[in-house]
Amino acid sequence: VERVTTEAASKMRSEGRRLGAARRQVIDAVAAHDGPVSAEQLAEELPEIHVSSIYRSLNMLEELGLVRHVHLSHGPAVFEVADRATAVRYLVCEVCGRAVAVSAEVFASLHRKIEREHDFLLDSGHFALSGRCVSCERDTHTAH
Ligand SMILES: [Zn+2]
Ligand SMILES: [Zn+2]
Repeated sequence: VERVTTEAASKMRSEGRRLGAARRQVIDAVAAHDGPVSAEQLAEELPEIHVSSIYRSLNMLEELGLVRHVHLSHGPAVFEVADRATAVRYLVCEVCGRAVAVSAEVFASLHRKIEREHDFLLDSGHFALSGRCVSCERDTHTAH
């Protein structure tokens, strides 16, 4: 957590901006989660910061490349520290909503194939990949 904040501070300084208390608190709160977190949840954890300031901080931290957002569902995007976000991809069960993080490496050969054959740079990290976990798939079949 401390390392992230220091990195954030130096990146912002290099951009001639000050890492304000609110932004520091926001990135620390994001980094304290093992997975992605919504702005709404951050607002609950940081009641002393106005919710509009949380959104502004998240946007700015994302512009600086310190935080990334991902869409796990039809709801609002969720945020994660950039290093972690670029290392994983999310699989989300469309029945129970469970999200599973898998290594981004798993998709490396798919990325290369699509770029080579379709001249397209796939971003498999912006949206979760949807499907069904095996137990939900089994339940659907027994119900029919
Ligand atoms: Zn499921
Ligand atoms: Zn988006």
